[in-house]
Amino acid sequence: MPPYDVARAQMICGGVDLVVSLELAGWLPQIIETVRRGRDRLLGMSDSQLLPPDRLTRAASAASASGLDGLLITPGADLRYLTGYHAMPLERLTCLVLPARGAASLVVPRLELARAQESPAGQLGIEIVGWDETDDPYDVCAGLLRDGIGGEPVAVAIADRMWAAAALRLRDAMPSAEQRAAGTVLRELRMRKTADEIDQLRLAGAAIDRVHDQVPGWLRVGRTEAEVGADIAAAIIAEGHAEVNFVIVGSGPNGASPHHDTGSRVISSGDAVVVDIGGATAAGYCSDETRTYVVGSAPEGFADYYEVLRQAQQAACEAVRPGVSCASIDAVARDIISAAGYGDYFIHRTGHGIGMEEHEEPYIVAGNDELLEPGMAFSIEPGIYLPGRHGARIEDIVVCTETGHDNLNRVSRELITADG
Ligand code: ZN
Ligand code: ZN
Ligand code: ZN
Repeated sequence: MPPYDVARAQMICGGVDLVVSLELAGWLPQIIETVRRGRDRLLGMSDSQLLPPDRLTRAASAASASGLDGLLITPGADLRYLTGYHAMPLERLTCLVLPARGAASLVVPRLELARAQESPAGQLGIEIVGWDETDDPYDVCAGLLRDGIGGEPVAVAIADRMWAAAALRLRDAMPSAEQRAAGTVLRELRMRKTADEIDQLRLAGAAIDRVHDQVPGWLRVGRTEAEVGADIAAAIIAEGHAEVNFVIVGSGPNGASPHHDTGSRVISSGDAVVVDIGGATAAGYCSDETRTYVVGSAPEGFADYYEVLRQAQQAACEAVRPGVSCASIDAVARDIISAAGYGDYFIHRTGHGIGMEEHEEPYIVAGNDELLEPGMAFSIEPGIYLPGRHGARIEDIVVCTETGHDNLNRVSRELITADG
């Protein structure tokens, strides 16, 4: 059995003759690898399929149904979701003005006009308005909204992550309008992924799996967490992501701090190491996967709870299906961990939605009675953390399907031992 899939290689390279001659030359594995990475990058690019033409219309009707006169969306995941424009958050205002009725406009600094027009936003048929350095862009936005609705706005929603400075300027420019958070409207759209969005998350999930596959080789006694983290960050890009979102390498006692970054701690034999990593595809969709490794052999007390954690994570994944509440998924994991006596050491919710943001709705947490629907994507990531000693977390991204769940990660959840 060759170390590559000849049938697939033929498909990729487009001809048997090419495959045979390259195979003879012994170059095929490298060529396939290069083609595969190129293909992953291509698949990762923004395209019109990822941005359905009705997205702005649906957002405008959702705003209207919520009694809003319009949405004002500054750079961030909401803007990228609605227009495909990945804008830099800068002090100069960039803002999508989406009236509940009437035409949408994208207001950008004149020096970024070309960039905005070249982005998918340029294909949406909306007006892209460049403002000059001496213009007041907040007045420009207010004027466009008034033109759209044909009067003074009474209520507008602003992007959840809009800078306060911009929110206050917009309030001054539209003093009659009550400001609300756009998340209450956009969550309903962003939470329910299209098939193309799920494909993007699947691509990101496969790429981060390939990074985890390499982690045991980097976890060597004598190396620091930061050194391992640098290898991981490079691999996140090499395996097809466009951006590194975060790298957590929590060795020994650092593993008990769930959002530990990386640090100068030197990895030693007998460490448990929590590795939680993620990036984003070129179209902005995120990966997020945690595995816990042991270097050499497991530390004292670790094996007692790792198997409990593994069962809790698996049971929570298997409980995912339409009509089940987010809270009940959290309870499945929590009940198993609590029954084993580790409830006090599971100090966070079971999961979070994922899409163009690594943490978004729906949150898999007690008290969230939202019912799962096909197309919702989120993490299942229970953890057990013994302060000052060690910790463990297992995290996969799952998608709720018509009948159950689809796991976008495939790296083994059994305890993985690095030789050290
Ligand atoms: Zn987190
Ligand atoms: Zn994570
Ligand atoms: Zn996560």
